[in-house]
This record gives sequence, structure tokens and C-alpha cells, in this order.
Amino acid sequence: MRYDESFPIEERLLFGLEQVVQAVGFLSERRSRDCALSALQLRIVTTLLKKGAKRTVGGVAEELSLTPATVSDAVASLVRKGFLSKKQGTEDARVSHLSLSPRGKRLALSQTAPGELVDLIRTLSKGERESLLLVLIKLIRGFQERGMIPIARMCANCRFFSPNAYPDSVKPHHCGFVEAPFGDRELRIECPDYAAPTGLKMSKQ
Ligand code: SF4
Repeated sequence: MRYDESFPIEERLLFGLEQVVQAVGFLSERRSRDCALSALQLRIVTTLLKKGAKRTVGGVAEELSLTPATVSDAVASLVRKGFLSKKQGTEDARVSHLSLSPRGKRLALSQTAPGELVDLIRTLSKGERESLLLVLIKLIRGFQERGMIPIARMCANCRFFSPNAYPDSVKPHHCGFVEAPFGDRELRIECPDYAAPTGLKMSKQ
């Protein structure tokens, strides 16, 4: 096969990423259909379960990079279906506080990564999985720095993270939350114990 200079590697990578996004979107649509919800409604329910999530319409909108109006419509439907309750703030009536109902909590807890996706990832070698994790972290940071996605609760953004604290070790990084060293393969992208560095706001409300 001859190298085709008219189709540079950047474009091929972008095409590949689009294919992956399409497959993940398909699986997530199917999962939400199984719960008789839209993909956005299911994302709101699972977002509200996260430790440290801002449980307001504005906070969820920021977390999902959507407008408050879009989130508000989905929230109204979730309230009607009995997955959420919504209360006006006592200090600021413009802020709506959200909480999962027992039914919403059960649904959020029942959500696990799609089996097909997990199986596919397991076909990668250990080294490929670790390399993919590092590439994803780098891409996510790049998107964050360009303001395209909100700050993720990942080690690279975390107050407790000390990168390369033990440079000659197989576990070079240190997590100040659990006070333990860890390696690249244990880097987290969505950590329940994440804490934003002082001065960094995760969301406005
Ligand atoms: S608390 Fe979580 S996100 Fe923060 S450094 Fe430890 S493992 Fe990483």
C-alpha cells in the first residue's frame, strides 16, 4: 500500500475518534431506551449520584456542557416520572436544587459500563490500555484548557495529586487523599474523592 499524503494522520485519527464516539453514543442511546428515558435524562440521573456533584440545574448544565434551559426541560420530565425532586433555593429563588428520589437512586446505581465496550477494551494488551489511558488524559486536558469541556474530576486536576513525587519508582505519583503512591495505570479520570485546587471552581451553582 502506498502512503497517501492527501489523507494525513491527523485526519485519520479524527475519523477514528468519530467512529469511537459514534459507537459509544449508540450504546448509551440503547441503554437509555432500555430505561424508557432519553440519553440526557439518564446522564442527569447518573451525574447527580456523583460525590461532589453540584445538585442544581445550573451546576448539572455546567457539568454536562449544556445550557440550563436544556437541562431544565429534561429535569422537568424526570420529576414527572418520579426520578427526581426539585426545590427552589431558600436563599436564592433562581437556584433550583435537585435530589434523586429512591427510584432515581436505584436507577443511577444500576448503571454500569456497557458489557460490549468493556469486553472490547479487555482485548487490548495491558500496555495498550495504559497508553490509551495516558492519551485520553492528555486529550481531555487539551479540551479543558481550550474551554471545550468542563474540568474533569481527574488526578491531573486534583488538589491531592503530586505527579512524579517518587521519580525512580514504578509508582511515581502520590495521592494525598489516601496518602499512597500510585502508577500511571491507576490514574483516575472520574474520581469520587477528587478535590479541585484552591481557586478552581467546578461549576457556578
Ligand atoms: S483523590 Fe482521586 S483524583 Fe485526587 S489524586 Fe487521589 S486518586 Fe487522583
